[in-house]
Amino acid sequence: MRLRMPLSVLSAAGLSLTALGLGAAPAGAAEAPLAPAADSYAAYAGSSEEAAANRAFFEAVLKSVAEKRAADPTGAAAVTVVYNASQAPTFATQIARSAQIWNSSVSNVRLQAGTSGADFSYYEGNDSRGSYASTDGHGSGYIFLDYAQNRTYNSTRVTAHETGHVLGLPDHYSGPCSELMSGGGPGPSCTNAYPNSTERSRVNQLWANGFAAALDKAEKALEKSGR
Ligand SMILES: [Zn+2]
Repeated sequence: MRLRMPLSVLSAAGLSLTALGLGAAPAGAAEAPLAPAADSYAAYAGSSEEAAANRAFFEAVLKSVAEKRAADPTGAAAVTVVYNASQAPTFATQIARSAQIWNSSVSNVRLQAGTSGADFSYYEGNDSRGSYASTDGHGSGYIFLDYAQNRTYNSTRVTAHETGHVLGLPDHYSGPCSELMSGGGPGPSCTNAYPNSTERSRVNQLWANGFAAALDKAEKALEKSGR
């Protein structure tokens, strides 16, 4: 079950209800293996126009984490983001490896597997748009892993890249293979599944001082973009 965040906690944290979409009802239990309909998405190989979807996805994850933190304010300093991989069984190994890669690369946020109270979910299937991070109509974040694309490109890199969006990183398709968020930009021969030092510091900075700081930074980025 998802916990709703008390309004008093939101006010105290100076958070905007509108930006967080807290007026929306929580997503229903997803028992079907089908991914929710994407209202916007950020692909593994695509255009920078998808930057807004990246931010929406990151906000959805932050919102979910914030709700749990509010319910348990005595939580540890490092933020734990819980993912549900049960709807993407084909990619269980790559998802676990992605979490391992990120957990060994950054210190201010941790990815942890779990089926109840997950902050986001992985789904698998066939989609001509390829793999992407998105939000459903209820403001919940999810990652979709496309079968064909994961055969063409290195599957662990695809999964670690999409997971990078969870931690707040935008796409940068023009970057080199050493950059994880360059995604499909360097082509299918690129197998690097690790973030570079710039990407690691960016995530650590984003999540420094816990979720409130990450949320505040995400909101500032939103204001700048005029959304
Ligand atoms: Zn991407």
